[in-house]
Amino acid sequence: MLSYRHAYHAGNFADVMKHTVLVQLLQYLTRKATPVCYIETHAGAGTYDLQSAHAAKTNEYQDGIGVFWNDVSLPGAMQTYLELVRAGNPHGKLRQYPGSPVIAQRLLRAHDRLELYELHTSDFALLKNECRGARRVRCHHGDGLSAAIAMVPPIERRALVFVDPSYEMKDEYQRVIETVQRMHRRFATGVYALWYPVIDRRLVDSIRRSFEESRMRHVLNLELLIETDDRRPGMRGCGMVIVNPPWTITADVQPVLALLAERLGRNGSGACNISQWVDE
Ligand code: SAM
Repeated sequence: MLSYRHAYHAGNFADVMKHTVLVQLLQYLTRKATPVCYIETHAGAGTYDLQSAHAAKTNEYQDGIGVFWNDVSLPGAMQTYLELVRAGNPHGKLRQYPGSPVIAQRLLRAHDRLELYELHTSDFALLKNECRGARRVRCHHGDGLSAAIAMVPPIERRALVFVDPSYEMKDEYQRVIETVQRMHRRFATGVYALWYPVIDRRLVDSIRRSFEESRMRHVLNLELLIETDDRRPGMRGCGMVIVNPPWTITADVQPVLALLAERLGRNGSGACNISQWVDE
């Protein structure tokens, strides 16, 4: 039984980070004319109403996208990300927030393909409604971790696999890593992006060890901390593990992460880190 609903968290600091990195990755992949397959294992509802009872209960977006909403100019992919959020709010008030499937649909081209998985019945219905009429998009109601393995290698031979779990189950970290490893064994040249929360540093260290011990040869880690005091409970940051990262991503994403740390850090205690977990 799933209890997580992304509507409570849409547009928060973690979404700003993961969606900016998603924009960056999609921009790289769409530079070449050849088609791309976008596979998302945990797609969520698609679009989120920031005035809904769910969002209003936490107001997390105010410390996320709300911080940048009135900015005129932002570095790199952040500017495109902000423009995408603005496009969904044509009346100038921040009310709707685009989830990753919507961001991907906007940046991908007519000859690209999207395969979206969502397990929660209500969020799946919202996602399906969001994607209605979009011929290049297929929404699947089910477990994205089991199902996505069979989707690779895709016929396009170029893909971004975006893995953004809610980590509700005890064994989920292990399952997620094993899934990425199995997909990589079937399709070694795909780009895989895995989001994780920073709650317990030991957990992040164990994710890192799993990647170091894998057969993957290029693994980059991006991390954003909004709170550096590790004695504070709760999510104090998040990270993205990118397998087969585009080679210029470090230089491109560095100013973005620095800005996120500066503007989103609590009481000036934000920090960011970019490190190669595996580079052979
Ligand atoms: N990726 C979305 C975005 O950025 O807009 C947010 C996804 S949210 C963090 C995680 C989603 O995964 C939730 O909607 C949850 O219902 C769904 N979920 C949880 N376990 C799943 C599974 N095994 N397969 C597919 N979806 C799952």
